[in-house]
Formats: sequence, structure tokens, C-alpha cells
Amino acid sequence: MVKKLVCIQCPLGCEMEVKLNGKMGVMEIKGNRCPRGYDYAMEEMIDPKRILTTSVKVENGDIDLVSVRTDKPIPKRLLKEAMEAIRKAKVKAPVRVGDIVLSNLLGTGANVMATRTVEPKKSEDFENKNEKDLKECKAI
Ligand code: SF4
Repeated sequence: MVKKLVCIQCPLGCEMEVKLNGKMGVMEIKGNRCPRGYDYAMEEMIDPKRILTTSVKVENGDIDLVSVRTDKPIPKRLLKEAMEAIRKAKVKAPVRVGDIVLSNLLGTGANVMATRTVEPKKSEDFENKNEKDLKECKAI
């Protein structure tokens, strides 16, 4: 069996062919222009990895969710379990871009980090004061 792959390790995007044998695994890799492509193809065949992108609940934030992603790829076979762990997580506002929301996700060594900033929710008193100030300004 031959499997076609596009290497995503650099912008050249080499098109590769991986010859597989049911019992022996990978028999031959063709089309890669460098060893990184070879390693990528091997990893894709044996234990593919992906960056996980999702969101985490925020307590007391001006929005309820913050977008996050893993800082390195994690095994594809763990994506479901990782999503479950992230779904249970909560962070308190403020959250800044690059903040680590969960470290060493499922023992993979990957951290889950925020990819946007979430400010704390403004209190009603603060908003009412602003509205009052605005009305006074317009009255002058
Ligand atoms: S095989 Fe090497 S040159 Fe080709 S896309 Fe992958 S990293 Fe780039």
C-alpha cells in the first residue's frame, strides 16, 4: 500500500509517498528533499501529532471564554482526552496572551497557552459612574 503525504515542516511542501507493508510498517519514503521530511513521514505513520486549538472558560472576564492552543504538537490519539481536560479547566480574568492556562497537558510536556487577552468584567458601579459622568458632560 502507498500513502501520499504533503510535508508541512517548511513552505516547500514536498509531496511524499510512503510505501507501507502491513506487517513490516514503513518500507520506503520518497519525495522528501531533506531528513525533516523523512522524520515527519515516519511520525505521521507511527504516532501523528497535532497542535490543539480550542477555548477555556474564564471567571469574571469581560467575555466568558479565552482562545488557547498547545505550545507544541501532542499525539493525535490523545486529542479527545485533552479536550476533556481543557473543558474542565477555568481561569480567572485577567488573562494575557501567552499565559499558561494548563501546564504539561496529560503528561505530554505541552502547555496550553492563551492566544488572546481577556480583561476583568467591569463592575456595575463603574459602568453607572461612567454613564453619570457622561450625562454630566453632555449637560455642560
Ligand atoms: S521534506 Fe524538507 S524541504 Fe521538503 S517540505 Fe519537508 S522540510 Fe521542507
